[in-house]
Amino acid sequence: MPAQIPFSEPPYLSSLPSPYFTPSHRKWQAAIQPFIQSHLHDRAVEWDVSGTVPPDVFTTFSQANMIIPALPAPLPVAWLKKLGIPTLLGGLPVEEFDALHGYIFNDEMVRSGLAGPGASLTTGMAFGVPLILKFGSEELKERVLPDLLTGRKRACIAITEPDAGSDVAGIVTSAVKSACGKFWVVNGSKKWYVSFSGSLSPPPSCFILLFFPVFFLFLLSFYPLSSLFPMHSFLKRKSLILKTRITNGIWSDYAAMAVRTGPPGSGAAGISLMVVPLKNHPGVTMRRLSVSGQATGGTTYIELDDVRVPVENILGEENQGMRYIMTNFNHERLAVATGTTRQARVALSAAFEYVLKREAFGKALIEQPVVRHRLAKAGALLESLTAWVEQFAYMLTKLPHDKAEALGGPTALLKAQAGMVFKECADTAVLLFGGNGFTKTGQGQLVESELWSFSSILCPPSVPQACRVLTAASTVQCFTARSWALESLVVPRMSCSTLLSGSWSRSTRRRPRCWRRREDPDCEAV
Ligand SMILES: Cc1cc2nc3c(=O)[nH]c(=O)nc-3n(C[C@H](O)[C@H](O)[C@H](O)COP(=O)(O)OP(=O)(O)OC[C@H]3O[C@@H](n4cnc5c(N)ncnc54)[C@H](O)[C@@H]3O)c2cc1C
Repeated sequence: MPAQIPFSEPPYLSSLPSPYFTPSHRKWQAAIQPFIQSHLHDRAVEWDVSGTVPPDVFTTFSQANMIIPALPAPLPVAWLKKLGIPTLLGGLPVEEFDALHGYIFNDEMVRSGLAGPGASLTTGMAFGVPLILKFGSEELKERVLPDLLTGRKRACIAITEPDAGSDVAGIVTSAVKSACGKFWVVNGSKKWYVSFSGSLSPPPSCFILLFFPVFFLFLLSFYPLSSLFPMHSFLKRKSLILKTRITNGIWSDYAAMAVRTGPPGSGAAGISLMVVPLKNHPGVTMRRLSVSGQATGGTTYIELDDVRVPVENILGEENQGMRYIMTNFNHERLAVATGTTRQARVALSAAFEYVLKREAFGKALIEQPVVRHRLAKAGALLESLTAWVEQFAYMLTKLPHDKAEALGGPTALLKAQAGMVFKECADTAVLLFGGNGFTKTGQGQLVESELWSFSSILCPPSVPQACRVLTAASTVQCFTARSWALESLVVPRMSCSTLLSGSWSRSTRRRPRCWRRREDPDCEAV
């Protein structure tokens, strides 16, 4: 067997001891690795170039129950057994699956170094289906889960809008109850062309009627359509009612979607989650978006125009959506951090392999101290990150659900750090591959793809700046909460948007003053 290229495997797969991985975890890794390799990675680069993973790959994975491990642990054991799925690949009982099995799955799904092909299969199951499992009514679950868990149908998660990304509380897609009370009408009537004619209703004059189309065509001859619309501030005000950058959307039968059920401006307190039918549903238009990195992820632009959704499709309680969305965070962030760590590993080990054989000035590049230094520096970051990711997965296997929620802030930091480390490793690889690192074919092809991929991790959706703000805020909140708890004071829960906006500091400033004035009889009233 050839020697392992340095940094190509995490320590637990390099014959080194680990406190975390049991024989069950190692058996699971040995069972899934060849399956994923032959059905996904062997042609991942080819599919990445063409931009699409063929649909039969999803069928192959779902028939082998290999989409299910994308769910957070513990798995929905009762549901799986009811559907005749008592075990996963390699005979792993579904009740035995924990966060470390999940970590191994997420790591193996990115072993090719490309996140897109794996994401094209699993994103809906990983981030959309858990919300239905956790908050759907029994009737809704009976209706949609059998098809979703067996892969006969697909789902996605649809939160982001053109004007609201990190600031989820700013979404504008509205859902209003129909007069008969049987439907939510997800309102798409503010699409831009409606706003356009409404705002510029022409006077009844032939000249004016003719002037607008002619002037419009004249403008079009100078500017592309997309560059014209942002020129109109009213169009921005009446923004498109769309969900954008929705991974897997184009193939999805359902979306777990955030909608505004409260009045405009109600912020986080007016958001609900509901299962919105997508494919072939009246009023829904979807088109695929071309993106850098994760080209195969099926990123989709969804337009909703008076879409009727059965009232039973609401998840949990009305206007509690923000709270529900936040329950997804630990799993989402750990899954992304795990895949990103593997991508960093693939980039760095590819660079290592390259400098061992590439010669310049009469010797291999690895002989140059500056090259060794660069590899070592990135390698140290990579191995520290791996240790941190594994530690998180382990903690999730041990913590009860309510305690695990406290990891939300630190997991955001982990995800942000994974993006930074991936950037360092991809930069190192591109540097050491020289010109090949910028070539879309040949030896540097994978590294070139990864160069674009890290920006989709570093930029949204991981949003490092926002993650750090959130983490700092929630760390302070946890500390303050503990201090208050010690003083027997009740601590109000703060929303994610409050934490992100920084306004949490105003409320916290008031409490500690009270805390310091405990002897003051008026304190209770503060
Ligand atoms: C590959 C990919 C897949 C995606 N898949 C999905 C999906 O399936 N479903 C879905 O709903 N969405 C999806 N998204 C969208 C993603 O969730 C959003 O991109 C993300 O929420 C960030 O929103 P935004 O792009 O509007 O950036 P913005 O919120 O506009 O942020 C722009 C910049 O400002 C920074 N910033 C924002 N807030 C703060 C702050 N408080 N302090 C400091 N800096 C800040 C950000 O870091 C970022 O650099 C996907 C995105 C990508 C790239």
